[in-house]
Amino acid sequence: MYKYSKKFIFGFVILFVISCEKENSPYQINDTITVDPQKIHRKALIIGIDGFRSDVMNLTSTPFINDLIQNKNTFSSLNHICEGITYSGPNWSSILTGVHMNKHKIFNNSFDDDNFDQYPSFFYFISESQSNKKTASLVNWLPINDKLMNNFTDYSTSSYINDFSVFETTKNLITDNNPINTDIIFIQFDELDGTGHSFGFSPEIEEYVNKANEIDNYCSQLYNLIEEKRSVGEDWIFIIVSDHGGEGTSHGDADNPNVNRTLITVEHPILEFKDSNFYSNQADIGKTVLDFIGINSEYFNNTTDGQTLFF
Ligand SMILES: [Zn+2]
Repeated sequence: MYKYSKKFIFGFVILFVISCEKENSPYQINDTITVDPQKIHRKALIIGIDGFRSDVMNLTSTPFINDLIQNKNTFSSLNHICEGITYSGPNWSSILTGVHMNKHKIFNNSFDDDNFDQYPSFFYFISESQSNKKTASLVNWLPINDKLMNNFTDYSTSSYINDFSVFETTKNLITDNNPINTDIIFIQFDELDGTGHSFGFSPEIEEYVNKANEIDNYCSQLYNLIEEKRSVGEDWIFIIVSDHGGEGTSHGDADNPNVNRTLITVEHPILEFKDSNFYSNQADIGKTVLDFIGINSEYFNNTTDGQTLFF
């Protein structure tokens, strides 16, 4: 009995020390962050659409995204490369940390044993930059905020909201600075994925196409708001990216191009982007956004797997 309780106490002490380190270590990243005064006024809207299969993108189902890609100055791809495990967890983690899953260690949707203290969301570097950039994260799929964003954003949702509420809340942020005046906004729509799981991920499935059309309409209205802000001198980048596609009613087959390739479009009225033949992947988003807003973290630059999508 004595032996066991001694062991127990010893184990408890070790555990406590480890968990302390883990909790504090995002703030122990040894980093030098510089801010480019020419770029720091810039703003970003990053729209995440869960479960967007690339071939649903066309003139009738997603007229806004179609027009954006055809007629505006963008980096766009329907072959944007997903992580080797095509679940949401690994992909949103790579989109937000700028590293692949071998580094962030999220291989499924449980978010157990993450390595985010070493590779935090790129919003961490914004919050550490002393730049006073205000950030927000509004998501339907809550693990994104719970695990990746809540600690590093000025405003974020922490209970369930549907896609319409994500849209409405984003609209209020952009038009009325309500509840805060935000510069960098990440949002995530989840219902296209849910529709795919219920009815099938396919341009042949009416329910899936109709849901894609609904989300396209949200994107269109948000883009119009950004255009209004641009017309009064604000310098915004507008990004749409998805985490994975789908086949049948699932997206587990990571060898299927309908699953492991998805949509990205990054729009800015003037700046030059890489050629659309460039094979973009999930890790490129963080680098592209930090580049655009002029936040230069030595640590992030040395550890990211992403490349900027600017020329
Ligand atoms: Zn997903």
